Amino acid sequence: MTAKGRDELTLCFSPEEIEARVSILAQELNSKLANERVVAVCVLRGAVLFFADLVRKLSIPNLVFDFCTLSSYGDKDVSSGEVSVRTWLSQDISDAHVLIVEDIVDTGRSMQTFLARLALCPQKGITLCALLDKSESRVCAVPIDYACFQVKAGFYVGYGLDFAQRYRHLPGIYTLHQNWVAGLFFS
Ligand code: 5GP
Ligand code: MG
Repeated sequence: MTAKGRDELTLCFSPEEIEARVSILAQELNSKLANERVVAVCVLRGAVLFFADLVRKLSIPNLVFDFCTLSSYGDKDVSSGEVSVRTWLSQDISDAHVLIVEDIVDTGRSMQTFLARLALCPQKGITLCALLDKSESRVCAVPIDYACFQVKAGFYVGYGLDFAQRYRHLPGIYTLHQNWVAGLFFS
């Protein structure tokens, strides 16, 4: 007999709640960084929708985009604990304030790795924004400047966040539970 998992999603934050929170964050960043040259960094792939919504609300005149890819989860819902930088920044940040746009700070290992590498590159300042802060799960201290939502331990999907690459397109944020059912195929 085989066992297949059925994913159950429970809504945590609606598209309207996310939009309202991202707007408040954008206002704060517009005040803080108005006169800076800003390199806004999207941490791929989970932050892609958060980044797209946030940057469209920023009125900072001197702003460019950059992208980096970190990896620690693969296709699992538990971090491997080994973080690798797959692609690094391509913009010159030497005279810029680096605005990091990250999906979730969980154990903190990914951001610790990223920030350690960033510290080796001259730049004018760093602001770290996270969509979700899972502070209960923290292993490494990470200086988050702005977190849209504080969340409990659990696994979150939607609004860019995936489980095995699925669910990124959902406009809200959900917790994911897997029910293991012998002999039944649901997905
Ligand atoms: P950390 O290194 O802080 O443990 O987390 C690294 C990355 O794992 C996060 O930036 C995020 O991309 C991913 N991650 C952590 N928790 C979750 C979660 O609940 N759901 C999803 N989809 N990704 C997560
Ligand atoms: Mg991430």
